Amino acid sequence: MSPAARSLADAAPAVYWLDDPFRPEALPALSGPVSADLLVVGGGFAGLWAALRATERDPSVDVVIVEVGHCGDQASGRNGGFASASLTHGFGNGMQRWPGDMALLDELGAANLRGIGDTVRRHGIDCAWEETGELHVATAAHQVSELAQLSVSLTQSGHDVRLLDETEVRGEVGSATYLSGVWDRTGTAMLEPARLAWGLRQALLDAGVRIYEGTEATELQHHDGAMNVRTPHGTVRAQRVLLATNAFPSLLRRLRLMTVPVYDYVLMTEPLSPAQKESVGWANRQGVGDASNMFHYYRLTRDHRILWGGYDAVYHYGSRIRAGLEQGPTHARLADHFFTTFPQLEGLRFTHRWAGIIDTSTRFTAFFGTAYDGRVAYAQGYTGLGVAATRFGADVALDLLWGLETERTALDMVRRKPLPFPPEPLRYAGIQLTRHSLGRADANGGRRNLWLRALDVAGLGFDS
Ligand SMILES: Cc1cc2nc3c(=O)[nH]c(=O)nc-3n(C[C@H](O)[C@H](O)[C@H](O)COP(=O)(O)OP(=O)(O)OC[C@H]3O[C@@H](n4cnc5c(N)ncnc54)[C@H](O)[C@@H]3O)c2cc1C
Repeated sequence: MSPAARSLADAAPAVYWLDDPFRPEALPALSGPVSADLLVVGGGFAGLWAALRATERDPSVDVVIVEVGHCGDQASGRNGGFASASLTHGFGNGMQRWPGDMALLDELGAANLRGIGDTVRRHGIDCAWEETGELHVATAAHQVSELAQLSVSLTQSGHDVRLLDETEVRGEVGSATYLSGVWDRTGTAMLEPARLAWGLRQALLDAGVRIYEGTEATELQHHDGAMNVRTPHGTVRAQRVLLATNAFPSLLRRLRLMTVPVYDYVLMTEPLSPAQKESVGWANRQGVGDASNMFHYYRLTRDHRILWGGYDAVYHYGSRIRAGLEQGPTHARLADHFFTTFPQLEGLRFTHRWAGIIDTSTRFTAFFGTAYDGRVAYAQGYTGLGVAATRFGADVALDLLWGLETERTALDMVRRKPLPFPPEPLRYAGIQLTRHSLGRADANGGRRNLWLRALDVAGLGFDS
């Protein structure tokens, strides 16, 4: 058996963050008709933030959340816990698409991240919030110049970054695969995602928000000046409805080609021994991501485990979503890559392996809009960077629902929508070709083939 296979032998097919004695009991499902000023559909970060921001704006607003499962069980409780200030899936993507708005987007993103920290402190949410920043590492020669360029651009735009040479970056985190690094010192906080979701849920319950779990919204209807939202357990009649259903099929059919559900895979190790900890260093506990197209992201937990995820972003024909797809060959690939990065940890075992769904849009950022004469608003498409951006997106959707013109709603990113994905079978073929091309570019010194260059020109892409 290979070291990677041995390391995975006892890993539970379960989400580490959800496998927690602090996981709250499920709340009862809806039973009979109710009414509300605002109905939020979906109890992930997007929905929880929307409900919280609505009550913070006006405590008299009567809010109901319906969640088909348990709040925080999907992407929001399964992710890496990198809370990034970026609202644009990274600085480069934002600069490429909205250079004129980037200064404001940066400012709004930084304020948004501060707002999350304030909320965590105000409500005493025990989610291991750590303002460590993020370390971007080069693991291939062509990435060294890319990171140097990123460092210049970030510095020119006022970000607090440090370019690290090979010795310096290996001094931060002990991997012989690193060639250089950029430490963005204030743009990312690390947190435990399910704990944050549960903390927000509790804050909402304390504020009198009614949350119905095990309750699926199945249909929207405009009736007599308000929205009727059907569930199998009764109808919610609401003045306004905010859709926060991420990668799951939208109640608005027109949105169904705007995102694709992509499976992102994750491993969690057992806690490191003192000698193992010493061998990796990592005293500053930054979140780490490599600079490949098919990148890995990793971080320490409060009890010194390593979460290790990314690389593959797997799309299934017909936008299939099924619990059975959460285990797959990617876990073995990830384990193998882990020991390439940290050979000194050979013998360390993984305790958990899982996957979650990312709502990828063709521009990698959220998009926003309204329906039913402004009574329904949505924010989705966060791709792989929604831990913090969902709070901003919630504010945008509330602005839209209340008809407010704000600096947020004036942004091009908010006013314009991404192009949709094509229908099947083109969608599947296009995504597979793009994934294949991205992998080849990583292996070929970053050189993008004709297909990727064509997508670049069209401003389209596929990412996690
Ligand atoms: C493995 C993984 C790692 C990631 N790592 C990071 C990271 O480190 N940093 C980062 O910024 N982002 C990361 N992301 C992305 C981030 O987790 C998401 O962008 C964010 O959680 C999206 O929040 P959400 O509320 O939109 O989605 P979700 O958490 O998926 O919530 C949507 C909710 O809607 C519910 N729902 C759907 N349809 C209905 C319906 N009809 N009726 C009622 N309820 C419904 C679902 O059950 C679900 O609970 C990662 C994602 C994954 C999967």
